This record gives sequence, structure tokens and C-alpha cells, in this order.
Amino acid sequence: MDANVPGKCQRAGCANSIPTALAGLQLCLDHFVDEAFVRTDLALGRCREGRTIDPAGLQCLLSDALTIVNNLEEGADEPKPEQRERMLELLLILANLQEYVAHHSVQIERHA
Ligand SMILES: [Zn+2]
Repeated sequence: MDANVPGKCQRAGCANSIPTALAGLQLCLDHFVDEAFVRTDLALGRCREGRTIDPAGLQCLLSDALTIVNNLEEGADEPKPEQRERMLELLLILANLQEYVAHHSVQIERHA
């Protein structure tokens, strides 16, 4: 076993290997993108309803975006068009969300 390979995705029934950029999460790229889409949808929904968004959640979405960028760079030499399309779509949604937060003065939850 190559020490640089983080192993297999921890999700039940998933045999995909984990890209090095996701070693800390123990998820394959497909499952990571699935989860990130869910997180992003929830946050966007909250914004549109005028509800608060907590700073930890916002931070999490920013780190999702960075992780995606890292994976796009890492996988640049072995393109999987559908996967890259999903990642780019997610980046676009994340960018829109940041715009939304900036322009609609979405309340950031403050914990006393
Ligand atoms: Zn997986």
C-alpha cells in the first residue's frame, strides 16, 4: 500500500478511493460533493427566508469551496467531465451565496 493513498471512502457500500485533498474527511469526491450540495442548499434556503446563518456554517461553506478548488487542481490531469461539472456548479452556487450574504445584509448569528 502506498502511504500517500488515504484509502477507501468510509461510506457504506462505497468503494471509491479518497483523493489526498479529502484525506481528513475520509470521503471520496462524489460523497463530499453530495454533502457540500446539501450544506449549500440549506444555507441558501435560510438566506432566502431571511433567517440567520451562523458564522461556523458560513466558514464551513468557504472551506468547502477551497476543498473543491484543490480537488479541481489535483484532478486536472485525469478529467472526469461529469464530476468536474458538478464541482464547478457547486462553486458557482457558493459564490452566489457569498454575494447574497454581502448584498442582502444577511444576519450573521452572534453568540453571546
Ligand atoms: Zn464514497
